[in-house]
Amino acid sequence: MFSAELIKKFKSTPTPFFYYDTALLRKTLEQAAVAAKKHDIEVHYALKANANKQLLKIIQGYGFGADCVSVNEVLRAIECGFLPDKIVFAGVGKSDEEIRIALENNIYCFNCESLEEIEIIDEIAGKLKKKASIALRINPNVNAHTHHYITTGLEENKFGINMWQLEDVLKALTRAKHVTLIGLHFHIGSQITDMNVYKTLCLRVNEIQQWFADRNIYVPNLNLGGGLGIDYYQPDNHSIVDFEKYYSIFRQFLKLNPGQKLHTEPGRALVAQCGALISKVLYVKKGIQSNFIILDAGMTELLRPALYQSYHKIENITSQSKNTLKYDVVGPICESSDCFGKAIDLPETNRGDLLALRSAGAYGESMALDYNLRDRAKSYLTEDLK
Ligand SMILES: *Cc1c(COP(=O)(O)O)cnc(C)c1O
Repeated sequence: MFSAELIKKFKSTPTPFFYYDTALLRKTLEQAAVAAKKHDIEVHYALKANANKQLLKIIQGYGFGADCVSVNEVLRAIECGFLPDKIVFAGVGKSDEEIRIALENNIYCFNCESLEEIEIIDEIAGKLKKKASIALRINPNVNAHTHHYITTGLEENKFGINMWQLEDVLKALTRAKHVTLIGLHFHIGSQITDMNVYKTLCLRVNEIQQWFADRNIYVPNLNLGGGLGIDYYQPDNHSIVDFEKYYSIFRQFLKLNPGQKLHTEPGRALVAQCGALISKVLYVKKGIQSNFIILDAGMTELLRPALYQSYHKIENITSQSKNTLKYDVVGPICESSDCFGKAIDLPETNRGDLLALRSAGAYGESMALDYNLRDRAKSYLTEDLK
């Protein structure tokens, strides 16, 4: 990923910073778009993975819609060229103000997560003399077999409407004159690498669609959410996920109603591998069992390891040493969880070396904090580095 020429440019760029490989990003988007087109699937990019404006402008160029979880994401998507009629708005806690602004911007669909939310959308749409299109986010009670903090499709999770609530939701919908039900939505979690999970989801969705068919309800859209996982261990060997395989599972196992349109919402799979967090070694400090590499980037730039013990591959991209040593790689933040990896094998590392934390294009920049009054790290695309 890093040519000698690129590393030279890194050396004259203040650290820490996010680097995005635009060629890889475009290749990934291209493959996703081709597979989606082949299987007649609408793609809505999940902005929460990375809402960097430069990246968004590139992503929307592939004809994708947007999946947003706040009205600021909705406005950012529109600003960067996504068409409002391709924007879906999800989230368990949409505020009245957010609903109003989204309605005024004529977004495509609200993915509704509770009966209570449907009633509020109906009320606000009525005041604005508008009709809101909604999809029901149904909790299919399918285990995504991923980290419990990024599992969202179980009944114990806060997300979505449970099956036993659906009768009441249908009654509420007949009372709600300012909303139109246009779809069903599912999203069971993130970083899903076991493709069988998607097969299980498809079969469960078929049962749920049958439940609706038994009540003579046929919605024109089905949205299976995001969650497609990437290979954090081998970012170079598996730099692009197999979108073709992913989409063919949907086509193989889902039973769609005649004319029903299929939608998905990938986030991570589109942007993770093109990004790296580049950081400078401030100190190499002797410990009891191992040595610490103390970086100038920490959990404020890349929160995932501290938040859910995630692994990111770490590379020393400037050391010339043939000697391999074990290091604990940590950030400068005043938290013990501010650690990127323990007992990591790296070439002998010295103050001033540059380390790359790989696969940081998703949930890196978008989760950045200013804890400890840290400055926000800058970001550069390939063509920005002179
Ligand atoms: C987070 C999220 C996504 C994207 O998830 P990825 O794992 O990044 O693909 C899609 N849809 C919804 C509703 C989400 O909350």
